[in-house]
Amino acid sequence: MTRRFDAVEPAREWCRGERRAGRGLGFVPTMGALHEGHLALVRRAAAENDAAVVSVFVNPLQFDDPADYERYPRDFGGDVALLGAAGCAMVFTGTLEQFFPTELDADGRLAASARVEPGPAAEGLEGEFRSGHFEGVATIVARLFDVVAPDRAYFGEKDFQQLCVVRDLARRRGGPEVVGCPIEREPSGLARSSRNELLTPAERRRAAALYAGLQRARAAWREGERGLDRLEQLVREVAEPSGLALEYVAFRDPDAWTSAFLGADAERAIALVAARIGRVRLIDNLRLDGDAA
Ligand code: AMP
Repeated sequence: MTRRFDAVEPAREWCRGERRAGRGLGFVPTMGALHEGHLALVRRAAAENDAAVVSVFVNPLQFDDPADYERYPRDFGGDVALLGAAGCAMVFTGTLEQFFPTELDADGRLAASARVEPGPAAEGLEGEFRSGHFEGVATIVARLFDVVAPDRAYFGEKDFQQLCVVRDLARRRGGPEVVGCPIEREPSGLARSSRNELLTPAERRRAAALYAGLQRARAAWREGERGLDRLEQLVREVAEPSGLALEYVAFRDPDAWTSAFLGADAERAIALVAARIGRVRLIDNLRLDGDAA
């Protein structure tokens, strides 16, 4: 049975009790509308820790577009039902006021002193196209870590730049251990995402071209192509005819991350993309040197 709390303080108390009893916590922060991608993280957290804790909170601080925040899918009851089978011991949700009881002004804006600086990993890509996004992520993740105080926290490689930002944040704080988990995909190759629910069936079919474009770049990389303009062109040639409007196609060293430069003899690279289809914005990435499907 999964314990469910609809407010932050009882969840904090529950976590405190677990730790007092000597039980280690694995934590999976989410924004809900859970799918197989989230559940894979939860199963792993349950397997590697005494108890798996999940938060479900659509964090307004990390949305640069109010319309995106409004239409973001929400189904807390459905989420709770799915989590039981995945081995989640406790799931909680809360409000911005509960997470920041003394830090919101009369208009509901968070005080500057409560905001957490996301660091250099946030530069470029999502950080460039979604103003304030990673500050919002770092701020809520830091607060969630305070509430749960987990030993390990599980994040998906789907949001690769977020994973880099959170790793830096955890390093600065002295914990928790951050575990990156592989991307779960639909049979078409489309990366699973809560926002996929907002796609029409036709858009959902066409959106698979995003992954196909990444695979095309990986095939060329394996054949020795190192020209970033050429690799970007290959992604675009596959994705754009399907009606995907690419915001960026970027290549980075997945380990160094902040050094955007990849030389002609690069051995490692990750390709990262963001694209709009209809009113939905999707992101995806693929290691060009990796074997993952
Ligand atoms: P979200 O609810 O979108 O904030 O995602 C919560 C966590 O699940 C984040 O760490 C995401 O990276 C991760 N996640 C979302 N989609 C996937 C996916 N398709 N595969 C693996 N992890 C995912």
